[in-house]
Amino acid sequence: MKITCDFCKTEYSVPSRPATAVKCAICGHVWAVAAPARRDVFLKFFAALCALFAAIVFAAVVMITHDKKVEKNKPLVATITGYESVVDDEGIPHLVVSGRITNQSAEIYGVPDLILVSHAADGTVIEKQKFMPSATLLDSGGYTEFRHILSVPVSQVKKVTVELPDMPTPGDKK
Ligand SMILES: [Zn+2]
Repeated sequence: MKITCDFCKTEYSVPSRPATAVKCAICGHVWAVAAPARRDVFLKFFAALCALFAAIVFAAVVMITHDKKVEKNKPLVATITGYESVVDDEGIPHLVVSGRITNQSAEIYGVPDLILVSHAADGTVIEKQKFMPSATLLDSGGYTEFRHILSVPVSQVKKVTVELPDMPTPGDKK
């Protein structure tokens, strides 16, 4: 079976579930491996239904609270356009976040790494996941779509935001 470090998400293949806590060889995090979810077809189906429902509720809540303001002084703007859910090998639903990066400046811009931030119900940041969109350059007015699976289970996430790293404004003198 596969086990994943809670902290750095490194995956390990082990012959069977360790009975005691395990230590990650990469980051040193110690965690207890939970028993794998039952592979029962009905349970999987039920998990998928729950995931779908959670994603719908989640999307509705996010759409209601979505802030429409445009950040005019930034050349690139990243927005989240949709959520789906997938169920992993353990039967745990995860959110798939899709969105768009738009170049609203008059210059050509390189596409930076994006950071998806998962927030808990109380507003605390559960996880920041950095990833690289497929496009590398955006013409003026151009955009590219992105799609990324969150590693945090859907049940823990109340809100997702997308961040771009700070970048210089065009025309800035060094
Ligand atoms: Zn680790």
